[in-house]
Amino acid sequence: MNLIAFEDLKNKSIRYVKGVGESRLSLFEKLDIRSVYDLLTYYPRDYEDRSRIKNIADLEHGEVCSFEGTVVSNVSEARPRRGMVISKVSVRDSTGKITAVWFNQQYVKNSLAVGSNYIFYGKADRKLNKLQIVNPVFELAGSDDMKKSLKIFPVYPSTKNLGQNVIRVIMQETLKTLDGTQMEDMLPGNVRKKYNLSGFVECIKQIHFPESFAQKEEARYRLVFEELFMLQLGLLNYKSLAADSGFGIRFHKPPEMDSFLQALPFELTAAQKRVLYEVEKDMESENVMNRLVQGDVGSGKTIIAVLALFKAVKCGYQGALMVPTEILAEQHFKSIKPLFEQYNISVELLSSSQPKKQKQWVFEGLSEGRIDVVIGTHALIEAAVQFQKLGLVVTDEQHRFGVRQRTILAEKGQNPDVLVMTATPIPRTLALILYGDLDISIIDQLPPGRKPIKTYTVNEAMRERINKFIREKVMEGRQVYIVCPLVEESEEIEAKSAVITAEEISNNVFKDLKVGIIHGKMKAAEKEAIMKSFVAGEISILVSTTIIEVGVNVPNATLMVIENAERFGLAQLHQLRGRVGRGAEQSYCVLFNQSKSQVSRERMKIMSQSNDGFVISEKDLEIRGPGDFFGTKQHGLPELKIANLYRDIEVLKLAQESAKELLEIDPGLKGNKKLKGYLSNYFGEKVTLS
Ligand code: ADP
Ligand code: MG
Repeated sequence: MNLIAFEDLKNKSIRYVKGVGESRLSLFEKLDIRSVYDLLTYYPRDYEDRSRIKNIADLEHGEVCSFEGTVVSNVSEARPRRGMVISKVSVRDSTGKITAVWFNQQYVKNSLAVGSNYIFYGKADRKLNKLQIVNPVFELAGSDDMKKSLKIFPVYPSTKNLGQNVIRVIMQETLKTLDGTQMEDMLPGNVRKKYNLSGFVECIKQIHFPESFAQKEEARYRLVFEELFMLQLGLLNYKSLAADSGFGIRFHKPPEMDSFLQALPFELTAAQKRVLYEVEKDMESENVMNRLVQGDVGSGKTIIAVLALFKAVKCGYQGALMVPTEILAEQHFKSIKPLFEQYNISVELLSSSQPKKQKQWVFEGLSEGRIDVVIGTHALIEAAVQFQKLGLVVTDEQHRFGVRQRTILAEKGQNPDVLVMTATPIPRTLALILYGDLDISIIDQLPPGRKPIKTYTVNEAMRERINKFIREKVMEGRQVYIVCPLVEESEEIEAKSAVITAEEISNNVFKDLKVGIIHGKMKAAEKEAIMKSFVAGEISILVSTTIIEVGVNVPNATLMVIENAERFGLAQLHQLRGRVGRGAEQSYCVLFNQSKSQVSRERMKIMSQSNDGFVISEKDLEIRGPGDFFGTKQHGLPELKIANLYRDIEVLKLAQESAKELLEIDPGLKGNKKLKGYLSNYFGEKVTLS
């Protein structure tokens, strides 16, 4: 038996698979498939069960099924309008008759012969009380092709010009090369034995072309187990490294704290007070604080960070606030500086795009202790940043950072306390596992006086009315965001780009209004200038990409129009929408949905009906299939290819247990070099395993 190493598959380009030439190579690349390993772990999103043959009389509305029948009529073609051909044929078996219908599939006409028997596979649909089979695939009964078709077929996420059949054939070719081989197994033998998990190669074959659904489930179980085991192993190994870092700082209650709280322009909500209490308690204890503050967009997380920073500085330490974008850094800086200045706390900004001299000055200020609080982007984790006495590290919008980045910053101090903030809604059980190393505080209340954002889903037919609405808002003195999915126009994707949209509206409908544009490809200084004039109210309509998704706070902006809303995830739409509704004014969100699909409509409906991030994420889960639902990527973790953290929570628990057991026997995985190598590869740069 041939033993294949994991790296062999990872390093082998799919170029060497039979049937893959230059053009397919680039098509596969679009699906992020480069190596044989990528291909093998490109799991089906669904299956077609063509194995059960039903009687025509037993077919039911909505069912996807196979049946065998004789063609009893010629194929008729109708052309109800330009560009549309409907082909129909009658099919009969001993129990009944049914009409098969195809839309725009003219090959059908010459492929079916009256009097011959075929196996059809498709979806049964009741129209005007008559059952039809819609767009079925078919094969001559008794043919070899047919025997092949009597199986469970994988359905893959596909792309233009790379259809199901091509992917299936290429997959089969690839699997053939694995015949007579075995993969070096990454799961330790005792774990495989304990949970009764079969070999990788066997499972990979079965997940793509299962003989039964039971077999598919079994294969899936093992692959899910492995994926979650690796995830847990990485996280736990990493956590154990962080844990032996010694004692933390004991902060006290500074005398100025109360007057600082009094001087704030608002009173904290009950939820903020509770979370502040939890944070202060942690800071005052001798243990290192590792706390996650979770709160929906607009719940007021920033002020918690400000209060914690205040406490740290007044106890004689420095503090750092790290955010994912320069816009956000700038914004926090502007709002925090005046609050702190009255209390003699010096605050500075640090970002990669600052002039060298300026940066140098900040570096010096931090190492000499002249600067008390620094607010910045990833620039903060650069080696040149040294603190004199770093006591508190805050990361805002943690889901935008890798797990690793959080600690690089913390390592610049001597066991500083760590506070991380996120708006990503995630069920508590899951948070406990994913953020296993963090305690969790939740701000589950919005500041008073907030009106829920009114959200509407519209289509192109409403364009003029929406433009009128935009104008109305601007005339009332309000500001508007128009969010586009792309920066520039693309040939392949039909979606609105920010550049074209901004050009169009500033030359036409909103010629007389001040329109601005902001996107990620602009220089930092340009972005800053635009944001400045938007904050100052000089720009009325800001056309943007999702760059404004995190943290931006301009309360006078009360309308957001999102183009091609169907292209965004619900969690992302919720984040985006959170940019309005930040003041006492009634705010609005208009979703342009260009898709007619049922799923899109349902998703948009959820957005219109709820303003609650938790509800939205749970509903999203209900209608979305398996996959990377919670966006592990969003949490700075590797992407999951097969496991669904919600559905597979039971497997996750087992995987966590086994990972713990293994690390107890072999801390740091010194006796499992292969596994460690695999893990580093899997986690990429996000987590460095020592
Ligand atoms: P997020 O949780 O999304 O980071 P922010 O901290 O940006 O929210 O707060 C959103 C807005 O609510 C800000 O304008 C902030 O000043 C305001 N805010 C925060 N807490 C309160 C409060 N207790 N009462 C009134 N307004 C508040
Ligand atoms: Mg925020």
